Amino acid sequence: MDRSGYRMETLAVHSGERRPGPEGSVVFPIYQGTVFSFEPGTDYHDIRYIRLSSTPSQRDLHGRLAALEGAEDAVATSSGMAAVTAILLAFLKKGDHLLAGSCLYGGTHDFLTRRAEDLGLSHTFVDDQRPETWKAALRPGTRMFLVETITNPLMRVPRLEEVAAFARTERLISVVDNTFASPVNFRPLARGFDLSFHSATKYLNGHSDLVAGCVLGSRERIDAVRRTLNLFGGSLDPHAAFLLARGTKTLALRVRAQNANALALARFLAGHARVKEVNYAGLEDHADHPHARKLLSGFGGMLSLRLKGGAEAAGRLIQSVRIPFFAPSLGGVETLIVLPAQTSHAGMKREDRERLGVTDDLVRVSCGIEAEEDLVEDFRQALEKV
Ligand SMILES: *Cc1c(COP(=O)(O)O)cnc(C)c1O
Repeated sequence: MDRSGYRMETLAVHSGERRPGPEGSVVFPIYQGTVFSFEPGTDYHDIRYIRLSSTPSQRDLHGRLAALEGAEDAVATSSGMAAVTAILLAFLKKGDHLLAGSCLYGGTHDFLTRRAEDLGLSHTFVDDQRPETWKAALRPGTRMFLVETITNPLMRVPRLEEVAAFARTERLISVVDNTFASPVNFRPLARGFDLSFHSATKYLNGHSDLVAGCVLGSRERIDAVRRTLNLFGGSLDPHAAFLLARGTKTLALRVRAQNANALALARFLAGHARVKEVNYAGLEDHADHPHARKLLSGFGGMLSLRLKGGAEAAGRLIQSVRIPFFAPSLGGVETLIVLPAQTSHAGMKREDRERLGVTDDLVRVSCGIEAEEDLVEDFRQALEKV
């Protein structure tokens, strides 16, 4: 059945499915087996073995993920970090250089700054809002341009179309971490990116109950990632693959609810007397709103804010909200609140953190799917106590 014409809600439920399913099953079962018998002469990378990401529950998941983002192929990984490191190790070799957005996820940033050099890889952080500065950062060995769709925790939206176009002109592989947007809000491959990856721990699964990642792109590139993953050992277990496939069925519903909750909360906070600043690209006065609205079909469930009372007030806000859990991570059905300076960016030196705008008073919220009115009401009562 050709599903290419379907909308996101339909794709999320039916993408990649097999009809009839095994034994007529509507839900694709969990094939927990480590290994399957094979024809003599099969290529090693095609043997069905869990580490080779080739068993039925893994393949079912790959088909679903690829269809969700309009990719030719996908491979699931044991975490979002396994996805990004598999990409880097698949396409870069000793002596190569990459351009990277200057505000990357902490783990990706740490890999580049603390481990990549040992492997002979170098990088230059560039301002992903200023295309005119990129050319000067190129070196003879530059091979890749790595950015994120929406950066953490200030929710900036890079010049994504310009990144893909620049990479094409300069013959670099363009890679985007699409975790924060999810396939519902941004489809990187249709916008010219070569590879997209996710921490599927977040929106794709959506229930804060597993760790996984995935890489999406052309068959050839995904094959290269999978072969690298086969050697580094970062495959996803079939049971987790089943849970992730289940999570993706409600992706469109969840993310649309999260978009709506975040927009409502951002508008409420922006109009509140005790709030100094709200970072959410859906707000008309956000610096990135003009290009973000052209790129994204929703602005996501993540926002951050600063209060007029500074770090002390931020601490009181966190003590006073009743619905959000005080916890890192994001993208689940429950609203979470954190102080990024103490969590995702705690490993950085204070001066580096502050240069990126991650000061002690910054509060980050991952909106869940609770009722919009209840969330707004909860922040209203909490702000009265700061
Ligand atoms: C969480 C996260 C990662 C890392 O994913 P894990 O599943 O924790 O390994 C990478 N990028 C972004 C944007 C993330 O939020």
